[in-house]
Amino acid sequence: MQHIQKVGVIGSGTMGAGIAQLLVQNGYPVILFDIDEKAVTRAKETIESKLDRLVAKGKISTTSSEQAKKDLDVTTDMASFAQCQLVIEAAPERLEIKRSIFSQLEEICTKDSILASNTSSLSITEISGQSANPERIAGLHFFNPAPIMPLVEVVKGLKTASSTVETLVQFANEINKNPVVCKDTPGFIVNRVARPFYNEALRIMNDKIASVEQIDRIMKRAGNFKMGPFELQDLIGIDINFATTKSVYEGFHGESRFRPHYYQERMVQSGSLGRKTKGGFYEYDN
Ligand code: NAD
Repeated sequence: MQHIQKVGVIGSGTMGAGIAQLLVQNGYPVILFDIDEKAVTRAKETIESKLDRLVAKGKISTTSSEQAKKDLDVTTDMASFAQCQLVIEAAPERLEIKRSIFSQLEEICTKDSILASNTSSLSITEISGQSANPERIAGLHFFNPAPIMPLVEVVKGLKTASSTVETLVQFANEINKNPVVCKDTPGFIVNRVARPFYNEALRIMNDKIASVEQIDRIMKRAGNFKMGPFELQDLIGIDINFATTKSVYEGFHGESRFRPHYYQERMVQSGSLGRKTKGGFYEYDN
């Protein structure tokens, strides 16, 4: 089993930054990469301020926060991943982007390093289809916010080696997550279960049966959910949520129960993507 000492994270957006924070908090040195220099600088600042807030709340010590900050390296040069035994990709949910990243990683990383994708819904088998060593490629699907949500799906593609899955399960346990091993099926487990939560809420809202606020309130007060379907779409990113629904729908070859809602597509087209654009179904000042 591969011994993981240093981890590379690709994409410093919502998930990449969250995963990098989680890993440095758990003692793993991380190299966080993005093609956009501003994004990676912003991610470093955000992670540092989140660590400061955890210290202020008494959740972590100043010493561990300082160590976590030291363990975080950011870069726009993928060549640094040669030092990593594990690379976790959290780039946009587009097959061509992920495939191109994995083929670059195959050139850079050592043969026994493990390459994982945080994809919400794309097929691991398809992402790794053109790879020379698909046995070391798997899904490692964190949930948002990554430092807090306990579940991690470890996805075994058709050619993923059992040893890769075992290493990722052990790694997930070491960073205090609860791993579940899944087959490479559309939406894996959680995103498949979650599709009707968003889709039906969009239909109910669009049919004017209840408002965005009412639906969220009902789900929280009566359903005991932590967040309603619209708050959650704003947190996840409406574009990401739409892409996931589309990909699950296509993965099941157009099964009607997974059909995306046109209203969600309009939101994406309008550029109101949720918290990250300071507006989605709700407005966000800060
Ligand atoms: P995001 O849009 O917040 O961030 C994506 C980042 O990738 C950006 O910083 C962008 O500059 C960077 N990027 C773009 N092209 C790149 C490339 N070629 N190489 C490296 N970086 C590149 O997206 P996100 O919400 O963090 O989602 C990332 C992945 O995680 C997706 O596969 C998504 O499905 C998955 N995911 C998202 C959530 C969620 O709640 N947002 C939850 C679980 C999994």
